[in-house]
Amino acid sequence: MNLPPAIFLDLDDTIVADSEAADACWMTVCLKRASELPEITPQALYDALLVRRDWFWSDPERHRTGRCDMKAARREIVMRTFEDQHIDDRKIALALADDYTAERHRVVYPFPRSIETLEKLRQTGIRLALLTNGDARYQRDKIARFDLEKYFECIVVESEFGVGKPDAAVFRHAVERLNVQAREVWMVGDNLAFDVLPALTLGMRGIWVDHRSRGLPEDACCTPSRTIRSIRELV
Ligand SMILES: [Mg+2]
Repeated sequence: MNLPPAIFLDLDDTIVADSEAADACWMTVCLKRASELPEITPQALYDALLVRRDWFWSDPERHRTGRCDMKAARREIVMRTFEDQHIDDRKIALALADDYTAERHRVVYPFPRSIETLEKLRQTGIRLALLTNGDARYQRDKIARFDLEKYFECIVVESEFGVGKPDAAVFRHAVERLNVQAREVWMVGDNLAFDVLPALTLGMRGIWVDHRSRGLPEDACCTPSRTIRSIRELV
């Protein structure tokens, strides 16, 4: 497949491995705080946290506001878990939540050869935009830590821009900034609903990054133009 003049990319779980360490990070912080919480085992606390975590992120509106303030979202998850478990210690709840935020941030890493792929795309003359949802404090830090800014002519971060994917405004903004036609653009991301479907709706090609190699779910909201396991398959 010939490469297009412009490619828009998602960040988390597309360029950097973000979510795969989530459960392990919860266990890390449960073990770290175990001596301060004699009333519950680390495993029981971990199990309860995952239940509350899944509950928290299952609501679209909570998801939207939560992802733009991750620290507050995680504090709420932990405080509600403590309530569920009748643990009355706000100080430790907040400390554990903040440990988790720090730990998640610490373990993020670029997928193998993903940065090399951005480099090659730029060398080929392809123009790139980065469209990322979430909290600019953390998204900008990742962009800086992995020195990604130099590859992109346009970077849209949800909490700075005011709206996030799948809102068409995000994609239209990048189209205008790069002065390209939507039909010339590939949008590449791991989230079918947030990355691929809106791109297809706007006449772009939507490339799905199936980084867990799970295949298209039966109830998928759309059929991607192409499925890849890693962005390195682009070049
Ligand atoms: Mg993503």
